[in-house]
Amino acid sequence: MVVRSEVLLRWLRVLRSYAESYPVEPGLRGWSWQFPPVRPRAFLGLSVYDVASYCPSRRDVWLRRVAGVRAQPSQAMRFGLEVHEVISSVVRVVRSYLRAPRDLPRVFKAVEKLVVSRTAGLASPELVRLVEEVAWLTYHTVVSEWFWSQCSSFLAPAMLSLSEVRVDGTPVGLSSNLRVDAIPVSNVVVDFKVGRRSDNHELSVTAYAMALEASLEVPVDYGLLVYIGWNGGVQVDVKGVYVGPDLRRTFIDSRDEVIDMVLSSREPPKAVECPNTCPYLEVCGK
Ligand code: SF4
Repeated sequence: MVVRSEVLLRWLRVLRSYAESYPVEPGLRGWSWQFPPVRPRAFLGLSVYDVASYCPSRRDVWLRRVAGVRAQPSQAMRFGLEVHEVISSVVRVVRSYLRAPRDLPRVFKAVEKLVVSRTAGLASPELVRLVEEVAWLTYHTVVSEWFWSQCSSFLAPAMLSLSEVRVDGTPVGLSSNLRVDAIPVSNVVVDFKVGRRSDNHELSVTAYAMALEASLEVPVDYGLLVYIGWNGGVQVDVKGVYVGPDLRRTFIDSRDEVIDMVLSSREPPKAVECPNTCPYLEVCGK
């Protein structure tokens, strides 16, 4: 994790007040997937990107799923991928080697080696610095929380969290191989985002939360979007999301629209305004 537990816990206190005033009815839980509206019209194994598309007209989904056009990942996507990979690798290394304080030099060396190997093939100096800084931030956060958990009676959720969790989203119409960035406690899903904020990020968190509910049959009411940016140095910001009734309905509508579009093969128009991070800019002649 790149965020300390107390930041996450502060957000959870705020989100709990939303949940109390506007609770989720059982029919909108992921585990109600056998019944409408949660039951999908077809099981197409959609990705979270398909449902929470960044393209205003969802043309990217049509290009991928109907026209079969594959695009090279944009620079923003490559940055996102590298950041995700380095966070999970550092967490894995620290968890594998850190058993006692005397293990720390060995853990440090292992992370140093990992950073060198992950940055070796990167062409962009900016990306190299981002990956290095995110790696060390993750290392310091996880190690300090480990020490804290050893010498106090307080829980350190970042240390307890599961990272890179595989989830079967089939029951709610999603892929059978979704990858959730982290689950610090059972009713919270964490999603790392690199770059600018966007409304569809809340929809991604909702998709993961409902897939987890369908798989684990426990309520998942809270999402934490961890934004990782670069402004001459790494910047981390957290936004809490209450996965309440409105977001769940939006997810269901969005998923059903995508299913209809794919089943009918209907070609959507080109969007008027396209994000400059879209990998299909050339294909759409933008
Ligand atoms: S270039 Fe524009 S219209 Fe085409 S997929 Fe991307 S966002 Fe959509």
